[in-house]
Amino acid sequence: MPWYRKLHWQIIIGLVLGLAFGVVAAVNGWNQFTADWVAPFGTIFLNLLKLVAVPLVLASLVAGVTSLSDLQKLSRIGGKTIALYLGTTAIAITVGLVYVNAMRPGEQIPEKLRNRLEATYQENVEKGQGLAETAQERGPLQPLVDVVPSNFFNSATDNSNMLQIVFVAIFVGIGLLLIPGKKAEPLIRIFESLNDLVIKLVEIVMLMAPLGVFALLADTITSITAESAGQILELLGALAYYCLAVVLGLATMVFVVYPALLKSFTNMSVGTFFRGIAPAQLVAFSTSSSGATLPVTMDCAEKNLGVSEEVSSFALPLGATINMDGTALYQGVAALFIGQVLNVGLSLGEQIELVTLVVLISIGTAAVPSAGIVMLVIVLENFGIPAAGIALIVGVDRPLDMLRTTNNITGDAMVASAVASSEDELHIPESPQTEGVNVEDGQPEDGQPASRDRAEQVG
Ligand code: ASP
Repeated sequence: MPWYRKLHWQIIIGLVLGLAFGVVAAVNGWNQFTADWVAPFGTIFLNLLKLVAVPLVLASLVAGVTSLSDLQKLSRIGGKTIALYLGTTAIAITVGLVYVNAMRPGEQIPEKLRNRLEATYQENVEKGQGLAETAQERGPLQPLVDVVPSNFFNSATDNSNMLQIVFVAIFVGIGLLLIPGKKAEPLIRIFESLNDLVIKLVEIVMLMAPLGVFALLADTITSITAESAGQILELLGALAYYCLAVVLGLATMVFVVYPALLKSFTNMSVGTFFRGIAPAQLVAFSTSSSGATLPVTMDCAEKNLGVSEEVSSFALPLGATINMDGTALYQGVAALFIGQVLNVGLSLGEQIELVTLVVLISIGTAAVPSAGIVMLVIVLENFGIPAAGIALIVGVDRPLDMLRTTNNITGDAMVASAVASSEDELHIPESPQTEGVNVEDGQPEDGQPASRDRAEQVG
């Protein structure tokens, strides 16, 4: 197949053209044209991804849990997955803290610019503060309570309740494992069939990915430059050091830490991993939402990396909701940066405390655009850093969000590969279908939807 027919190349072309179009549109003042005629295609693509997210998490997790055949295996895989998620998140924050302490980007901001930024973004700060206050007023165990819905249909109506859906799916899966096989079988088959259906829908949606990514990027560029392109450039200049600390931290995670972990836990080559996960990374970069990217991440992990459906359908939905290495790293850097600008230093002890707090906060951060910066307010207030400080960084949040989301899903895929390998469930394809989804026929290599075999086993 010629290279340009491979999906990931088509997405890259869409991304580059979208960036170029966005810049030309911003320079020529075509903002309204872009909003009216280009942006809607991005919204449609994003909506389609979100549309399949809830049924996908539900079907894949129930099918995943029931395929584990016994609770012992479930708790073993669950334990490993959660331990790796927490461990990698702690490493990510530490990497971020090393960069921000070494580079001290907060000392580069002139006082005049600082005052202006605070005034310009006051509205965003108030909104963020309001949300964070509501979050803080709740009791310490409230996040736990929030995971358990009182009505499943309410949870399913809102994509931001993904953690509740994860809970219900695991709960139902465990229930199905505990009732006699004959009784469980019809329901398991329904979930498996739903799973296959959703995977097929994702493949269809991905046909639109190059256009969707083009539109999303063009719209992002014209929206962030809407106020004044000159101001954005000045802001980028002043905050370049801060952005650099975040970017270097994320790059260290993606290009050093993950490959090292991949080497220690699996036999997969780093090239195979990156080629395989590239389509999901590109979608994460363009959508800034690991929740919306989840269907693509799962598809890439199963088809290109060879992670068994059993592990991927458990580890990835969980990872998209609780494992946010990029977000955690960013929150650590941002908190210290703001502290440096506003002269609130954190001792080593406080920074260690920060690692623990940020691990917990990143778990509670929703897998949607800009969630990281809202939750950052809680971190700041915990350490006596004025929350108004987020005004300093709101202006450059979007590009950093795109990068940290890419890091988030890469971390999920790495952990899923490691867990699969430890369970002997990583079957790295000889020649990976690096186009992400097999847009030609969408079938696994044997031409049979993989879960059907499982239904037979269960039956
Ligand atoms: N956009 C990120 C994600 O969905 C969350 C964040 O850091 O804002 O993974």
